[in-house]
Amino acid sequence: MSEDAIRTQLWIGNEWQDATSGRTFATRNPATEEVLAQVAEGGEEDVDRAVRSARDAMEGKAWGRMDAHRRSALLWKLADLIEANADELGRLETLDNGKTYFEARKVDLPSVVQCFRYFAGLADKIQGATIPVSGPFLNYTLREPVGVVGCIVPWNFPLNIASWKVAPALACGNAVILKPAEQTPLTALRLGELAAEAGFPPGALNVVPGFGETAGAALVRHPGVDAIAFTGSTEVGKTVMREAADTTKKLSLELGGKSPNIIFADADLDAAIRGATTGIFYGKGEVCAAGSRILVERAVYDEVVDALAGRAAKTTVGDPMESGTRLGAIVSQEQLDRVLDYIRIGKEEGARLASGGERKTVDGKGYFVDATVFADVDPEMTIAREEIFGPVAAVIPFDDFDDAVAKANRTIYGLASGIWTRDIGKAHRMAAAIQAGTVWVNTYNRYDAASPFGGYKQSGFGRDLGFQSALDKYTQTKSVWVALD
Ligand code: ADP
Repeated sequence: MSEDAIRTQLWIGNEWQDATSGRTFATRNPATEEVLAQVAEGGEEDVDRAVRSARDAMEGKAWGRMDAHRRSALLWKLADLIEANADELGRLETLDNGKTYFEARKVDLPSVVQCFRYFAGLADKIQGATIPVSGPFLNYTLREPVGVVGCIVPWNFPLNIASWKVAPALACGNAVILKPAEQTPLTALRLGELAAEAGFPPGALNVVPGFGETAGAALVRHPGVDAIAFTGSTEVGKTVMREAADTTKKLSLELGGKSPNIIFADADLDAAIRGATTGIFYGKGEVCAAGSRILVERAVYDEVVDALAGRAAKTTVGDPMESGTRLGAIVSQEQLDRVLDYIRIGKEEGARLASGGERKTVDGKGYFVDATVFADVDPEMTIAREEIFGPVAAVIPFDDFDDAVAKANRTIYGLASGIWTRDIGKAHRMAAAIQAGTVWVNTYNRYDAASPFGGYKQSGFGRDLGFQSALDKYTQTKSVWVALD
């Protein structure tokens, strides 16, 4: 990819702008450690500029009073443009995040396109109701946009998770300010530009890269922002919730996880082992819903541990642009240190390292880690309780159904879960017993723009995806009373 294809300024009011401070920050390719670009560092004044642009858009004719049919057409056009530029966007994502080009191009990008198309279909189907009330009155509801929505997204699926928020927010007629993660701002900036090309008027979608504690915090505090849709760590989510209280913003949080992937002895073990392997190693394990606790029934425990370790050992770590690579680079030095630290703690606390555990480089560079499997993990160990956000599996044995439920739910999180069994009754009983926003039965890591995704417990609240979640998050209901006599 040529340097000139990388956009590095703030995208406000359909124009490239420098940060008021003139400051920039470096974004790196984690596979080579090289600086990819210096990107404008949005601060409080820049967020304020973006909010004014978004408010003007909401109040103006071009966006605020645009026909819903036209909004739908624009979203569909944007999906077409993303699809037409998917090679470039996929490469940008790989360079910035370190995930394999295969994952970026063949999984993330098609899912972004599907998301924009799905919500394009929602834009002109948002309607209220007429409600029978007592007395001579006509009562009806209007479903209106919330207003200006700040979308704060993480670095693991930069464009994908941005689309989960931007597409429904625009479909519902809001103006959006997108704050990408400081590690991965590049595809979000290109999205802003493509939205203008699709015909979105100035201010409908603004993109302000910058750091969480400055640009992100300014967005959360700004009185001109009506709602925040956040995906990130549980720790930062709690700060966002506190900060959003001052202006009583509408809030949705999709936070961390420590998801159990539960293998019963009666499962199709080949499928379960494959599913558990991709469940933790897909996306380098930097996945909110990663199946990071693999619970295995004792009767098949040794067999499953050996097979998981064998598959992990065969997982090719390396250059994310190479087609044979299965595990790309960890997103940053900071995240690499964090993952290696958890591996050290796992060993110190007495878990058995069954595979991996080493740092890797390519030509002496890059933030790579082997696919790592810890066996004989006790549920009280740190690696069984804390989200690692890396390619590290904790395998835990269980005795029976009740023990599996107890262990699965022994976590502050509740984002996702997997169940592997051939017993259909057991699968449904388990699905009901697990405290998590998603349950996958005999599969893992499935997503669709039509199916809601989000957390129980400290994994957050509010749902991404699905039309009902979009209406809940990005519209507000007005009740209108009309006296009939
Ligand atoms: P991760 O652990 O995945 O990096 P974070 O929660 O740190 O998750 O970051 C997710 C997003 O939240 C990023 O865009 C980051 O810049 C932003 N962020 C971090 N701190 C804050 C904050 N105090 N207020 C608002 N946004 C923040």
